[in-house]
Amino acid sequence: MQVLVFTDLDGTLLDHHTYDYEPAKALINELQQRKIPLVFSSSKTMVEIEPLRQATHNHHPFIVENGSAVYVPKDYFGRKPYGTFLREEYWVKEFAEPRAHWLQILERLNQQFQNCFESFSQLGPGGIARAAELSVAEATLANQRQYSEPLLWTGDAIKRQAFINELVRAGAFVQQGGRFLTINGNGDKGSALRWLLSHYRERQPKQTFHTISLGDSQNDAPMLEASDTAIVVRSPVKDMPRLQRQSQTQVTTDYGPLGWSNTLRETLDSLEARHG
Ligand SMILES: [Mg+2]
Repeated sequence: MQVLVFTDLDGTLLDHHTYDYEPAKALINELQQRKIPLVFSSSKTMVEIEPLRQATHNHHPFIVENGSAVYVPKDYFGRKPYGTFLREEYWVKEFAEPRAHWLQILERLNQQFQNCFESFSQLGPGGIARAAELSVAEATLANQRQYSEPLLWTGDAIKRQAFINELVRAGAFVQQGGRFLTINGNGDKGSALRWLLSHYRERQPKQTFHTISLGDSQNDAPMLEASDTAIVVRSPVKDMPRLQRQSQTQVTTDYGPLGWSNTLRETLDSLEARHG
C-alpha cells in the first residue's frame, strides 16, 4: 500500500503565530525515508511555497492558492499529466480563472464602489506590507499571485454585501480571511487532491493508495472530505472546520506542527499495523 499525505501549511504544518515547524521536522524526514509523498496544499502562492519546499527537500507536487492550481515537477510522473502546460520547471493544472480575470471585474466595480476597497494590485508591496504587517520582501512574494486577488474593504457593511453579491454573480468565490477579502474562482483543495491521486494511480495501476489529509480551517474541508483519513489540526485561534464525515477522522490533541506530527505518526503506525 502506498500512503500519500496532503497537508495545509498555515496553522497546520506551520505554527499559526510563528510559522515554525520544528516539531514536525523528524517526521518530515521519516516520510522521505519511507518514500511517502508529502504534498503541500495551501492558500499561499507558488513563490511563497517554494522556499519551504527547498528547506524541507520536498520534490513532490504542490497545490497553490487554495486549490486554484496544481504544480507538478517536470519529471515527476515520467510524462506530461493531462490538461497541463509547462511553466518554468513545472507542469501546471489550473482549476480556476487567472488573476487578470478578477482584476478586470474589480475594475468594472471600481466605479460603483468608489473608495470602498483597496486591492493588492492597487496597494502594491508597500501598502500590502503595512496592511498585513509583513516585510516589504514578504509582501512582494504575497503579491505574486496568479489566481486570486485579496482586498481591504474600507466601505460600510451594506455596500460590502452588495459588492460580494456582484462578485458572486460574476462567478467569483469570495472568502473573508483575517484581514482581507479574497476573490478567486471555484477551485478547491479537494478537486486538486483527486486530480493528483488519479495521476499516482495511473503511474502505479496495481498499487492501492491511502490518502491522509491534514488541515485546520474551513477551506481545508473539501480536501479532508476527499481523503481516506482526515486529520483536523487543532488551532489556537479558530473553530475547527465542519465536516460531514465521521469515520477515519481524527482531531489532534496539540496545536499546529506538534499536533500534526503526533497524530500523523499514530495514523501511520496504525495503518502499518493493519496492512504491514
Ligand atoms: Mg490553515
